[in-house]
Amino acid sequence: MSNYPHLLAPLDLGFTTLKNRTLMGSMHTGLEEAPNGYERMAAFYGERAKGQVGLIVTGGIAPNEAGRVGKGGSMMNSKEEANHHKIVTKAVHDNGGKICMQILHTGRYAYHDKAVGPSNLRAPINLYKPHKLTHDEVLQTIQDFADCAAYAQEAGYDGVEIMGSEGYLINQFIAKRTNDRDDDWGGSFENRTRFALETIRAVRKKVGTNFIIVYRLSMLDLVEDGGNIDEVIRLAKEVELAGANIINSGIGWHEARIPTIAMMVPRGAFSWVTAKVKGSVSIPLCTSNRINTPEVAEDILARGDADMVSMARPFLADGFFVQKAMDGKPEEINTCIACNQACLDHIFQGITASCLVNPRACNETELIIEPTTKKKKIAVVGAGPGGMSTANTAAERGHDVTLFESMDRLGGQLNIAKQIPGKDEFNETIRYFGTMMKKNNVNIQLNKRVSAKELIDGGYDEVVLATGVIPRMPPIPGIESSNVMSYVDLVLHKKPAGKQVAVIGAGGIGFDVSVYLTDAGHPFDKEHYLKEWGIDTSISENGGLGTKSEEKSDRNVTMMKRSKDKFGSNLGKTTGWIHKTTLIDRKVEQISGVTYKSIDAEGVTIEAKGKERKILADTVVICAGQDPCRELQAEIEAAGVKVHLVGGADLAAELDAKRAIDQGTRLAASL
Ligand code: NAP
Ligand code: SF4
Repeated sequence: MSNYPHLLAPLDLGFTTLKNRTLMGSMHTGLEEAPNGYERMAAFYGERAKGQVGLIVTGGIAPNEAGRVGKGGSMMNSKEEANHHKIVTKAVHDNGGKICMQILHTGRYAYHDKAVGPSNLRAPINLYKPHKLTHDEVLQTIQDFADCAAYAQEAGYDGVEIMGSEGYLINQFIAKRTNDRDDDWGGSFENRTRFALETIRAVRKKVGTNFIIVYRLSMLDLVEDGGNIDEVIRLAKEVELAGANIINSGIGWHEARIPTIAMMVPRGAFSWVTAKVKGSVSIPLCTSNRINTPEVAEDILARGDADMVSMARPFLADGFFVQKAMDGKPEEINTCIACNQACLDHIFQGITASCLVNPRACNETELIIEPTTKKKKIAVVGAGPGGMSTANTAAERGHDVTLFESMDRLGGQLNIAKQIPGKDEFNETIRYFGTMMKKNNVNIQLNKRVSAKELIDGGYDEVVLATGVIPRMPPIPGIESSNVMSYVDLVLHKKPAGKQVAVIGAGGIGFDVSVYLTDAGHPFDKEHYLKEWGIDTSISENGGLGTKSEEKSDRNVTMMKRSKDKFGSNLGKTTGWIHKTTLIDRKVEQISGVTYKSIDAEGVTIEAKGKERKILADTVVICAGQDPCRELQAEIEAAGVKVHLVGGADLAAELDAKRAIDQGTRLAASL
């Protein structure tokens, strides 16, 4: 019997049956607008269908101009557009899958000057003020949804998902926060929900009965003047009556200031919200957010919180997630670590999405990993993310690979990252590569500081140096004082810190170290997370916003940097604000525009804003970036052996796991 009987059970929708309880949640990938985008989407979704996803939902496609995400954003309002999508639906059907197209009208979140909304209230996260839709324009928009669904049907989709959550247009009509109308579309609950329900009815009328309609219902708005659970349940019942086949859960508007999908959100942290609606409707309910392993999904379903689970990013990380669960090989799943670095952050930077742990995601037509025709003997030095990805891909292709690591464990810098509170998902990446390297017969040599001579004499065809970085110790007078330590000493070697700490450097690691130092030691679990961020689990009012609990250790921390720009400006687009909020809540002092004068036993003397000042500190932690570590390179190259540099050893300035894994995988695909 399967280890995941609930997850892998089919779901009968009456006129059609889904092969299991997984829904690949809608996620904008940027392929929709990319050159050769439809071919690339076909390869991307086709692979996920082959990997046994129960129901795929595409990224959001607008029903009209106003609803587009940005200028040139994808839209489905003509036969011609529908024809473009046929290659995508065919690829999914050829691989035995089912796919719905998400219809997304962004409303006041539209990043262009044609934005519209129920009111002309600008969103706090947008520059553009929306035009308030007239009564006739509201009717036309409903018609556009219906026409869009009909075109999706013509394109071969099995259904549509109507996006009614996350603070987009439909949600804007429903919430008092964004709806100040006093006509038929505003005011009372009936009026505010009319747009959502009329849209579902119009779509159902247009597409007939044998076509899936998923409605994504905002169950927890997490914004002021958001809805409450009674309204959510009332709406869910109406949504069923209006003709939806599945209700998917939406958690948090984009403008909410509570993290809902980032790594510091515990796994499965929101299935309790969907559970509150269970029993009130007879159509299947799908839950979502931070579900990233078959175990978490199975627990949620077995508990009866929902009938299906939505996962979006986990299918970027591994298209064969379901297949591996079916095969009883969950340890081979490349787990989404919720970093957002290559998916959402890319989208916000206007770059096609991919995945930090799986650079093939959305690059299926271009990053091709195939068996080698010429087996080589390859040495990889360093088992950080760059070294592990190189060794694994090279071995998967059939090369004879030896991986040397001076430490007693795999992971390199990931072993530091995973110690930061809320970042233990990095363990998963180490686990995945460890499992796969074993499976692909990489000869892993831990505790082995390999010499240049051994690499030269070893008869290797290629040597890959993934030797990482050395923490930079800036030449500040007194840097050798006994109260000074590097972030590696603090986090990896657990050197104790005092109660008054100065942190020099405020990049990603300076932030991580400050979070680490001010952590009050609470368990990393759902209950604590919900309290820390003030989520009202009764959802009695205000979209579930409650009061945040006080979070602070008894340690005082001061962060400093030389540059004058804002603290955290280089952090990830979609997660930086969370780190910034955390440190503000914990009252960490932040000083920019600093010149370091000296360090002594009492602390750090600095000059800032033209004044000299002493930052009292019994511990000074240096987080001043890194220099590349490539001491083996010259000697090996001089002996005529081909050397490649990967990750931090190549470019320390932009040290990050995303670049290291991408670079390692691409190099190995080419060897
Ligand atoms: P970083 O982002 O390059 O930051 C280095 C910090 O050191 C800067 O704040 C810089 O600030 C300071 N600095 C540089 N040279 C200095 C010198 N000679 N003396 C004094 N201060 C100096 O590097 P990192 O913090 O080590 O992070 C490394 C990489 O890890 C990042 O690129 C990031 O990709 C990744 N990472 C990201 C996150 C995240 O996003 N949450 C977390 C951890 C790691 P001033 O020049 O202004 O003084
Ligand atoms: Fe998950 Fe990070 Fe990959 Fe995005 S980039 S899919 S969050 S692992």
